[in-house]
Amino acid sequence: MIGFRRAGGLAGTSDACEDATVPDAGLPGLPGLPGLLGLRGLRSVDDHTKAVAALLAPTDRPTEVQQRPLAECRGLALAADLLAAVSLPPFDNSAMDGYAVRSVDVAGASRDEPVELDVSEDIPAGRTDAPVLQPGTAHRIMTGAPVPPGADAVLPVESTDGGLVRVHLYGAVAPGTNVRRAGEDVRVGDVVLRRGQLLGAAQLGAAAAVGSATLPVHRPLRVLVLSTGSELVAPGNPLEHGQIYESNGPMLAAAVEEAGGVAELGRFVADDVGVFVQALRARLESVDLVLTSGGVSAGAYEVVKDALAEHGVEFVKVAMQPGKPQGAGRFDGVPVVTLPGNPVSALVSFEIFVRPALLAAAGPPVTAGPRLTAALAEPLSSPAERRQYRRGVYADGSVRLVGGPGSHLLVALAAANCLVEIPEQVTGLPAGAPVEALLLGS
Ligand code: AMP
Ligand code: MG
Repeated sequence: MIGFRRAGGLAGTSDACEDATVPDAGLPGLPGLPGLLGLRGLRSVDDHTKAVAALLAPTDRPTEVQQRPLAECRGLALAADLLAAVSLPPFDNSAMDGYAVRSVDVAGASRDEPVELDVSEDIPAGRTDAPVLQPGTAHRIMTGAPVPPGADAVLPVESTDGGLVRVHLYGAVAPGTNVRRAGEDVRVGDVVLRRGQLLGAAQLGAAAAVGSATLPVHRPLRVLVLSTGSELVAPGNPLEHGQIYESNGPMLAAAVEEAGGVAELGRFVADDVGVFVQALRARLESVDLVLTSGGVSAGAYEVVKDALAEHGVEFVKVAMQPGKPQGAGRFDGVPVVTLPGNPVSALVSFEIFVRPALLAAAGPPVTAGPRLTAALAEPLSSPAERRQYRRGVYADGSVRLVGGPGSHLLVALAAANCLVEIPEQVTGLPAGAPVEALLLGS
């Protein structure tokens, strides 16, 4: 690394190139020049996305299937369609606390002219027999309890006097009212969840509801997260002048876990090729992917580049801001993705390149993250020929920017809930312009 790096939108050395841009927003935007600008030999975002995805493609690396208890499936991808072993609901049941009746018996009932019936049974949820409702009687029934044979509707308790022996019913009901039909949600044998589905709260709830105690899932990918930099100090220790706290490791490890992987956070290493390679080799056999940060731009002491360029990892410049210096390839056969060191660059690169690849590799069909179109709350400027990702807060159809374009502004990223994507050919946008936002953390 060369000294005198100046981040945050000021032109300077090679890494400032990563952030180099016209001064930050506030200026009226220039109209874009679609189609006129090339990428000046830079690799396009889409091409690098494909390169990273190809590294982790399941065709290259058969995914292992494991049968796991539901409690250990969260965030993983289902490895086979789940068929319903029972219908849901399994039986006709009451949607209300009230009285099961024959609708014909309460025809014409009202507050002024209630119908009075004998209460012959009490059916709480969990009662497993099926007492038949005789004409001209009512069964008191609770929500979720089986509707008795003979009844075709439930009158809510609020429309009655709540009697236990005899009940006054103050309203008429159409057949089927307040009855949740067996199989309304799913029928025995129907597909409950499709192969590849990511298992979150609702999916695990549905699996439990049809009686699954375990599910077949793809083994999560193990990802070694390795940070580099002689300036780094572990949080909790005192800093000397020139040192900074190591933040990429915990950040990227969390990002890996959020994408359904298992993160193995390696101890960060100094800018020393020997030490770096040793740290890499020590963990290589037990992981599916190595994710490094730092040491890939164009300065001196670029430890990752120096160590891996000779070993089949390709280092490229991507037409993106932040996140220009990138690398991808294999080291001793193990996929390696080398992210830039600036924390915002590292996490934005993870979002754009690594997260989709990890999700795809875990089994599901490739899913683009959720995107929406929002109105820009303020003007912005963006470098020509680079796809810019600005940090924003989306709310109520509009998005305001947080922080400038600088790739060191990590606290601003922590306050953002989306990345605002500005296409390569756009150099400026006015307030109110529609922009694409990629929602973070969803
Ligand atoms: P590099 O890509 O190694 O030249 O680093 C670019 C910038 O990111 C420098 O300002 C580094 O100090 C910073 N940086 C690199 N790695 C980390 C890290 N793990 N945690 C925090 N900052 C980092
Ligand atoms: Mg470094």
